[in-house]
Amino acid sequence: MAANSTPLEQNLEDFRSFELPTEEENDNYRKLALRQLYYEQRRTFRKVPCFFAWQLDKEILAGWEDAYATVLSDLKCFPVGYDGTYGETVSYENSWNLARNYGGNRRHEGVDLMTSNNKPGYFPAVSICDGTIEKMGWLELGGYRIGIRSTHGAYLYYAHLDSYRKGLAIGDMVKAGDILGYLGNTGYGKEGTKGKFDVHLHFGIYVDIEGKEVSVNPYYILKWLEQ
Ligand SMILES: [Zn+2]
Repeated sequence: MAANSTPLEQNLEDFRSFELPTEEENDNYRKLALRQLYYEQRRTFRKVPCFFAWQLDKEILAGWEDAYATVLSDLKCFPVGYDGTYGETVSYENSWNLARNYGGNRRHEGVDLMTSNNKPGYFPAVSICDGTIEKMGWLELGGYRIGIRSTHGAYLYYAHLDSYRKGLAIGDMVKAGDILGYLGNTGYGKEGTKGKFDVHLHFGIYVDIEGKEVSVNPYYILKWLEQ
């Protein structure tokens, strides 16, 4: 870039040289925010001239950083409980924001944690933070789900449960590490529908950014919680 370039040209150059953080940098929430910004950028700004996108991005990035700081400050545990005594494993990929078809074309607002034995009711779903039970009950897409509002306002969404831990009710306080229920394969139909897919936990994280509820990519946060 020439030394006498205009600020607009510099912005454009900055935008083009935008780099994704590496896997090793995931412990830094600013890098996490940048990574999510990259996905949001592709989705939202694809048809906008680059320099406009970049100018908007700086403001959005500040919002994402705050949101990640909020989320990360509350989170303490991995959302599935297991110790591998019998060789159990849980696996997941970065499927956030990929296309989904059931219930109309939509985006995948979470990560699916798959279990090694595919047995409903075997693996506990664990609260990853202190918080309050805000939602329970059936959703066509989510099956038996539970939603926890964390201390600093993030919403943690656990879907496709086989059952809830006995005695839990909306409004109850939970602590990080508390069992919320057991993983299953419920959803994609009327109440009680099971077995339309393999047992897994669909796990979503939502935060408010300027009054709008936004889905955050749980993938890097899960990697961080697993460390
Ligand atoms: Zn899912």
